[in-house]
Amino acid sequence: MLDFLLIVDEDTVLEVMRLVGGEDAVSIVKFLMKNPSKSDEEIASALGMNAKDVRKILHRLIDYSLLTYDVAKNKETGHRIFRWRVQQDQVLGYIKTQIRRMVERLKAKLEYEQSHQFYYCGTKGCRKYAFEEALDKLFKCPVCGNLLNYYDNSKIIETLKQKLQILEKSI
Ligand SMILES: [Zn+2]
Repeated sequence: MLDFLLIVDEDTVLEVMRLVGGEDAVSIVKFLMKNPSKSDEEIASALGMNAKDVRKILHRLIDYSLLTYDVAKNKETGHRIFRWRVQQDQVLGYIKTQIRRMVERLKAKLEYEQSHQFYYCGTKGCRKYAFEEALDKLFKCPVCGNLLNYYDNSKIIETLKQKLQILEKSI
């Protein structure tokens, strides 16, 4: 495992929260890091946000176990109150899961690139076709009409391998 992944600093935490819950999640998490164990209502009024919006984001973050909460009962109303805290150590697990998913996707792509021959018209924006597809289109690009020529994908394969090596080292 790489050292940089062992250190989950505040910036990393906020970056992950932004990915999961957007800008408002960052504001909420920043607030909770300074003021742990606050309720939805307290968070909403401190940030000038709608309590419903706050709850929506809190639930999105809890789906990824990035937050935790304690439940208390309001003695007067009998309502349950959730008090939220940031689960900073879970961010590392989240990042690793994302990297593992990325590795799986890249591996599948690499296998596809390695097991096929590709044909390409050379026009920017047009896609490449595997041999069977190109044959099916009589080696003519259905988008721009140019001829589909053999395309050497060894550079793509090399780049994919390099990316995989870096990512696999980090998990
Ligand atoms: Zn084309």
